[in-house]
Amino acid sequence: METDISGTLYIVSAASGAGKTSLLRALMDRDPRLVISVSHTTRAPRPGEVDGRDYHFVDDAAFSGLVEAGAFLEHARVFDRRYGTTHAAVEADLAAGRDVLVEIDWQGARQIRERLEETVSVFILPPSRAALEARLRGRGQDSEAVIADRMRAAVSEMRHCNEYDYLVWNDDFDTALADLEAIVRARRLRRARQFHDHGDTLGSLTDGAIAGPP
Ligand code: 5GP
Repeated sequence: METDISGTLYIVSAASGAGKTSLLRALMDRDPRLVISVSHTTRAPRPGEVDGRDYHFVDDAAFSGLVEAGAFLEHARVFDRRYGTTHAAVEADLAAGRDVLVEIDWQGARQIRERLEETVSVFILPPSRAALEARLRGRGQDSEAVIADRMRAAVSEMRHCNEYDYLVWNDDFDTALADLEAIVRARRLRRARQFHDHGDTLGSLTDGAIAGPP
């Protein structure tokens, strides 16, 4: 039996160059009911990144300590750095009925799907190979070898898109954003969620025959 009484965990993945970060930023701005999970990583902060907001930046020993303590819901090595989502980053919000978004790679997505029943996973894709390559070329300051490496990494991530519930094409930004919003909105309209959120109203409309979750 489905007991969808907590928030939904949205897993979002993409190859770099698909425009995931700006889309998710816009989604978060428009939907105050979504909480984004802050991951731990062993990579160094980039200019402008803030510890505790963009990531929890930790060294390798601290990361290993968290692994040993069982703190991670999932963790993986990506581009030779370690990344992980702690239980603490998502579970309290989910238990309180809030929807939580995790921005992670396909390896982490697999681990979470195995551990949690109620997940919705979304893979964001670029509109074409040519468009992806143009985005990966960026401002034209990188060598062909660097661009080829990025392309290979992107292709190997995209090979896992068939493991996700939804595919969103990021050709036109506004359309892709509306598609993400539609996924979240449809999910919130599911019966189990409505029973949880509107149990009193349903009870009153049905003389108590339907009264929210047990
Ligand atoms: P970046 O270092 O560019 O922020 O992220 C590099 C990659 O790591 C992205 O594909 C991103 O989705 C992935 N990533 C970020 N946080 C996590 C995490 O907590 N777990 C996993 N498995 N991947 C993550």
